Amino acid sequence: PVPGDGAAIVAAVRAAAQALVAEEARLTDLDGRVGDGDLGLNLARGACDVLAGIDAYGSANAASILRFLSATLRKSVGGTSGALYAAGLLRAARELDGIETPAARDWSAALASGTKAIATLGDARLGDRTMLDALLPAAETLAAHVGESGALDAALEAARRGTAATAAIASRRGRSSYLGERAIGTPDPGAEAVLVWLGALRDALAG
Ligand code: ADP
Ligand code: MG
Ligand code: MG
Repeated sequence: PVPGDGAAIVAAVRAAAQALVAEEARLTDLDGRVGDGDLGLNLARGACDVLAGIDAYGSANAASILRFLSATLRKSVGGTSGALYAAGLLRAARELDGIETPAARDWSAALASGTKAIATLGDARLGDRTMLDALLPAAETLAAHVGESGALDAALEAARRGTAATAAIASRRGRSSYLGERAIGTPDPGAEAVLVWLGALRDALAG
């Protein structure tokens, strides 16, 4: 089922935020190996603030909810991820403006636009060993299967493959770029974080 009404969107957002809280230690450990070790902590703090404020949005439209997420993550996540997610969510919100009940095609367009905004702000592309290595294949696959059952499963699987591939490449963006070849063997923490929230969204929407 595609979440169109506020209550369904809020339930899916809750699931994604709870998953980020649950994976805090693993994400922080990953970022500790190839970055400054704050990613899990930062995302969990943002997720807690989302959980604290989301209940007011049960009858809001999709664009308002995404704007709330953008503003909350901008304030409480910090770091590179906070700025990039805030920009992506704001762009995704604009894509859904004026759509009372978004359908699968609208969500797919929102994911594609948000991902593009992240790539523009971060000046990064596929293969740079960033969250985009999960997001770009996910957005592309969702667009290719939009409206089919299992579209989100296929998108998640594409994000998994893209994330796994980051373990084999040296970084060109973000802190891990300082490590160069030494990052090889560890997947990008930001891409792993995408798998966490995307996986939770998939489970919430399937259940
Ligand atoms: P930092 O602590 O370095 O400010 P975070 O820990 O919040 O950053 O996030 C690190 C993640 O952000 C990386 O694993 C990567 O996925 C993503 N990232 C870093 N730089 C960029 C960029 N220029 N474009 C897209 N994503 C990026
Ligand atoms: Mg970090
Ligand atoms: Mg940091």
